[in-house]
Amino acid sequence: MRIVRDRSELLHLMNELRKENPGQLVGFVPTMGYLHSGHSTLIDHARKTSDFVIVSIFVNPTQFGPGEDFDRYPRDEQRDLKLCLSHGVDLVFLPDCEQMYSNLHATYIQVRGISNVLCGAFRPGHFDGVATIVGKLFNLIQPDMAYFGQKDGQQIAIIKKMTRDLDFKTHIVVVPTVREPDGLAMSSRNVYLSSDARKIAPVVFKSLCEAKKRFDDHSIRSAETLISTVKERLSSAGEIEIQYVEIRTTEDLQPVETITEPVLLAVAVILDRVRLIDNVILNPREDEHDPSR
Ligand code: AMP
Repeated sequence: MRIVRDRSELLHLMNELRKENPGQLVGFVPTMGYLHSGHSTLIDHARKTSDFVIVSIFVNPTQFGPGEDFDRYPRDEQRDLKLCLSHGVDLVFLPDCEQMYSNLHATYIQVRGISNVLCGAFRPGHFDGVATIVGKLFNLIQPDMAYFGQKDGQQIAIIKKMTRDLDFKTHIVVVPTVREPDGLAMSSRNVYLSSDARKIAPVVFKSLCEAKKRFDDHSIRSAETLISTVKERLSSAGEIEIQYVEIRTTEDLQPVETITEPVLLAVAVILDRVRLIDNVILNPREDEHDPSR
């Protein structure tokens, strides 16, 4: 496994790789490190469906707002490298901040319309930072496929739109959310949870499942009713601050009243000062789809 910290070396290696093996499919998994089974599942998908697997590990400062946890974001390079090695990664790109952003960096990618809703409403500028770093990494690596987790549903919508709008050649592959046995979505930030908060945290996914059951088994199609189901379940758990519970279309993140197409039911809460997000997709039967869309 190659470990590369320098972007010129990465560019050089990518050129060599493409010269030596022109038909080789390059699969890319961008991460911020502190890797867990969610990340390794992405890597395993990449390993199965591409020939050369690259993982980047970079805690991207431009996607953290003032007062957010950039400085204390968990990091463990040695453990991450071991995980990458054991999952058959070919190359790990581990740049530092100077490698990715010079002092004079002034250019940002902004995916308009869908970056300032849901999480974007609570984290201004966050998705500009995400789109910018992913765009930069796509330019350096030029992957055939890039793998993203469904856990970050809004991120997927934004990256897919950026890829289409800016004519990146990379195909975006979405991998289902990986969960702890009690349903909590795996996240590097789960380590911040106190043991009491950790016991409460599964209510986030439970509340989504309750709404999904009402949608699937009882044909409830009113977004407002399903949102209330989630909010009531979350409120019953006590010390949870709800940032949002929303139902929006999966691609253009438009709010809906009656569900006639696949939608994202997404939640963000603060529990014990830790921000947790999760989502499920609600998919109506084919005959319910609105033919005008
Ligand atoms: P992060 O390191 O948090 O920036 O995440 C890197 C990638 O891993 C993103 O595409 C995330 O959506 C994905 N990811 C993080 N947690 C999970 C999870 N529990 N299940 C699936 N993918 C995940």
